[in-house]
Amino acid sequence: MVKFIIKGKHNKLSREEIRALFHATATILEYHNKHLESKTVEVNIIPKEGFKGRKTKTGTNVVGTAKLHRDPPLILMSNHQNFSNAATVIIHEMIHLYFWEEFGDEIEEKLTSTLTAKIKQDVIDMANVIVTNTYQRAAFIAHTKMSYRPDDEDFYDENQYHENHDDSHGEKYRKNKKRPISFLEAAEIVKRKKARENI
Ligand SMILES: [Zn+2]
Repeated sequence: MVKFIIKGKHNKLSREEIRALFHATATILEYHNKHLESKTVEVNIIPKEGFKGRKTKTGTNVVGTAKLHRDPPLILMSNHQNFSNAATVIIHEMIHLYFWEEFGDEIEEKLTSTLTAKIKQDVIDMANVIVTNTYQRAAFIAHTKMSYRPDDEDFYDENQYHENHDDSHGEKYRKNKKRPISFLEAAEIVKRKKARENI
């Protein structure tokens, strides 16, 4: 997974939302075995005037650019768009980086923009999941070594088997379609079975 070095401020999106959109896009592309050689990508958020006078292949105003052959690879994006359009730019420029050699110069904008449209909703859904509770999760991670130490000997925290809410759309890809039961549920079943046998 690449690390994003994000510079500059966006007028409408928080830094957390921007990070989440980049990470969600990378996660989806890398899940499908697309990878970058570089371990980092630099993102510069700049005022739209920075793109002034620059037109896309079809004559619209440029609002984002990707450059793979920089060290690290660079994405420039405008700071003025709403969430949906900023998501489009982030996904689009990330696809340019990840498919740099594959698409070829001639028709790359058609391929890039169509794939952007196809994965956009999934990227936004995932970005919304990871941006929610950002700081609570950051605190959990930061406090782990200090605050979650056992008082005495090492042990497994049974809360890790808590039966979590899972109504995911991924159900059809699951081998065992029956939901796995939690440790506490399993303990409860054993207890009930023992109680029955004692009668
Ligand atoms: Zn493009």
